[in-house]
This record gives sequence, C-alpha cells and structure tokens, in this order.
Amino acid sequence: MASQKTKVFDYTAYSLPTEGSAGLTGSWRSKRPVIVDAKCTKCNLCWLYCPEGTIIRVKGKIPIVDLTYCKGCGVCAKECPSRAIDMEDESKWLSR
Ligand code: SF4
Ligand code: SF4
Repeated sequence: MASQKTKVFDYTAYSLPTEGSAGLTGSWRSKRPVIVDAKCTKCNLCWLYCPEGTIIRVKGKIPIVDLTYCKGCGVCAKECPSRAIDMEDESKWLSR
C-alpha cells in the first residue's frame, strides 16, 4: 500500500494580469476611458491598476489605452489621482 503523503505548498497562489486576459472586447463595452492630456501627469497608476493590462506605458508620454481589450470597467478613472480619465459613453463615439 502506497504511503499517503501530505503535499505542503510553500508558495501563495496568485495571478498577474495579462494583456487582454478576458479576450477581445467586441462591441458590448458601454463606456470608454478617455485620457485628458492637459490633466495627465504621466504617473502610470492607471497602467498599474488596469485589471486587463490594456494600458500601454510610453516612456515620458501619456499612456495609451488599447481599446481592443479595454472592458470599460472604469478602474483606471477611479484610481487616477489627477482625475485625468473621463469615462465617456460609447454611443457618443459610435455616432462620430
Ligand atoms: S493615472 Fe491619470 S495622471 Fe496618471 S498616467 Fe494615468 S491618466 Fe495620467
Ligand atoms: S476601463 Fe478598465 S479595462 Fe479599460 S483601461 Fe480602464 S481599467 Fe483598463
């Protein structure tokens, strides 16, 4: 009879966001983040907090939101210390 061993894990499970971890967004997003250039201090906190990993850092410049993966959750806008991200209705953009 095989001995029963208790496996002891010496690590904590965790996951890291990856770009587009939940897949392409398609057309269902109702809000999109728009960075107001004049307010942005380039602190990159939005990049840090985006759960989709869909904000792209550009050294010394304002970050870019990859809308093909952005889910419109608004976390970036909530975390931005400068209130530089407006969550705008998608319908406003579709009619452009
Ligand atoms: S968190 Fe706000 S201020 Fe900082 S880089 Fe993003 S948009 Fe700019
Ligand atoms: S709205 Fe959500 S998914 Fe889109 S860039 Fe902001 S934090 Fe990321």
